[in-house]
Amino acid sequence: MCRWGWIFNMSLFITSLNSGSNGNCYYIGNDREAILVDAGISCRETEKRMQRLGLSMSSVKAIFVSHEHTDHIKGIPVIAKKYQLPVYITANTLSNGGMELDAQLVFSFQAYTPVTVGELNITAFPKFHDAIDPHSFIIESKGIRIGVFTDIGAPCERLIHHFQQCHAAFLESNYDEEMLENGSYPRHLKNRIRGGQGHLSNRQALELFQTHRPSFLTHLLLSHLSHNNNNPDLTRDLFAPHAGETKIVIASRHEETPVYFIESSESLGPVTFPVQAAAPSLPTRNTGTPATYSLQPNPTAAKPTRPKKPAPHSSQFSLF
Ligand SMILES: [Zn+2]
Ligand SMILES: [Zn+2]
Repeated sequence: MCRWGWIFNMSLFITSLNSGSNGNCYYIGNDREAILVDAGISCRETEKRMQRLGLSMSSVKAIFVSHEHTDHIKGIPVIAKKYQLPVYITANTLSNGGMELDAQLVFSFQAYTPVTVGELNITAFPKFHDAIDPHSFIIESKGIRIGVFTDIGAPCERLIHHFQQCHAAFLESNYDEEMLENGSYPRHLKNRIRGGQGHLSNRQALELFQTHRPSFLTHLLLSHLSHNNNNPDLTRDLFAPHAGETKIVIASRHEETPVYFIESSESLGPVTFPVQAAAPSLPTRNTGTPATYSLQPNPTAAKPTRPKKPAPHSSQFSLF
């Protein structure tokens, strides 16, 4: 249990332990249990940063993996083994990531089917990104919702739908369009980043925020800022005039953010999915299917079959 648990037992606690192409790890929990979305920094660094925040690894009950790029998975084998944490990962992501994990720690998830961890309900949905089977996550507990929306090539209707229901969100704001255009990256890399399967620009993130933020969005953690094509001050200045009642935080590539307590009088109930968000709008490279819009927990999550040979890792590396 974290040291603030007794004060805010109706709140969710969130922090970014690191955010950027050098490693991503997001903590979401209540006073009893927590999950990590991705574990892209070392186990030792994860422990150190959580300790500084007064958070205990004993409250972490599972890791959810968004996609196989190294900045999202490189800490997983060690931390999962050391703490015997279940790793929720799709079979394609596991096979493309080439991670060695104990079979008993590997669990699958399906888009739109919530996984229950204590009082946390974690629901994945597909996103546009240059990976084999990439997902965003919504974490819901007692009507409070947190979104983890990084590594997104373009805002789709699913992202908009879920962003509109968040009390707090980690939202990618990867690059300044001018800095990317005028920077030193080769043209093909620039085009990968901004080509719809790469990353969200500051402008795209701001547009989403301005157009679709709900009145109850208390915290926006701008995430995965590029080292070469962005600047934290520039991003902060861009969002500040539009912040209103929402606290804008820049999630650092070098250190943890403070822990934020997310609570609300606007309890929204279970996560829902718009029927119109079905197949036609799915990312073309995603192999999952949104066949069900179940609101039920998925206690019998099947273990994916481990491939005999890892697939090639050609898409394993993150854009910047
Ligand atoms: Zn990334
Ligand atoms: Zn990525």
